[in-house]
Amino acid sequence: MSHVFVIDQDKQPLDPIHPGHARKLLSSGKAAVYRRFPFVLIRKHQVSEPHPQPLRLKIDPGSKTTGLAVLNNTTGQVVWAAELTHRGEEIHQALQKRAGVRRGRRSRHTRYRPARWRNRRRPKGWLAPSLLSRIQHVETWVQRLRRWCPIGAISYEAVRFDTQALQTPEIEGIAYQHGTLAGLELKEYLLLKWGHTCVYCQKRGIPLEVEHIVPKMRGGSDRVTNLTLACESCNHLKGNKTALEFGFPHVQAQARQPLKDAAAVNATRWALYERLKATGLPLERSTGGRTKWNRTHRGMPKTHWLDAVCVGPSTPEQIDFEQIIPLLITAKGRQSRQLCNVDELGFPSGRPKGPSKVYGFQTGDMGAT
Ligand SMILES: [Zn+2]
Repeated sequence: MSHVFVIDQDKQPLDPIHPGHARKLLSSGKAAVYRRFPFVLIRKHQVSEPHPQPLRLKIDPGSKTTGLAVLNNTTGQVVWAAELTHRGEEIHQALQKRAGVRRGRRSRHTRYRPARWRNRRRPKGWLAPSLLSRIQHVETWVQRLRRWCPIGAISYEAVRFDTQALQTPEIEGIAYQHGTLAGLELKEYLLLKWGHTCVYCQKRGIPLEVEHIVPKMRGGSDRVTNLTLACESCNHLKGNKTALEFGFPHVQAQARQPLKDAAAVNATRWALYERLKATGLPLERSTGGRTKWNRTHRGMPKTHWLDAVCVGPSTPEQIDFEQIIPLLITAKGRQSRQLCNVDELGFPSGRPKGPSKVYGFQTGDMGAT
């Protein structure tokens, strides 16, 4: 089971404890509930010489969901896990709506506003609000966890595949071998290069296999320039034909073109990496290929939080994760500054969003049931 976080009287983090132990502390009055989500206890008495064992926080960032896991690297035990659901799409829609309202105002007869000249330059390192919200969501949770849990290091999946190890694989001619670490880094590379779609039927969201453009039986090599991704049925249908004979002459030409460097570097992931570095904790950087290899190698199922558990070369060989139930966290917006809601024609409708504190209660709070 997920462990329970404990802090001492001075609100310094102690070793997380087993839920059974937590229950005993509570019933004997030695601790009180400090926070319910995630469950944090505060000790009522001085703890003599606390030496909490440093734990490792692991982060697998995603565009919709980010996995978080706290791991004890010496015992291989997962102490706590969570999945953060971001609100990137929601923010995008809200901004679109706002832009629409403003556009409508421009064509109406309203009072004159002087043009604002050159006051909208974007600062260096600017990110779209939807991307920024993801970074801030993860950053907030890292800061929170550090308050309740003795975190000594962070593992972070900074890139999808190792650009250093795979530098221009088209030129270096790295061979694909199924099931190896290099093979998985290469597969991540291919997924990005071919846009996660079957190159023959253009289907998305189905399992894709590495496919030889010129079949191996007919002298095709294992090099990247001869590889693409196809779904199982297309792969089967193509059989012993080359892509040209199968009716896809452009595939070979596309395979020869190297993936642009810019495509491999994800701005959001790097911005988050920089912010994690600012925490001052030892930061281990890893790749998506390594995560996948760690996970399949240990026979673990695919979920966001288990991906987080498998981030980084420091992942222990034996992992105890069976009874963990991840905390599911969804990002909610903060306030709204819109003073008047409008309908689809731009006319005022309804009242603005009210304050988020009502009679001393925060809206969206979990009630006692
Ligand atoms: Zn297909």
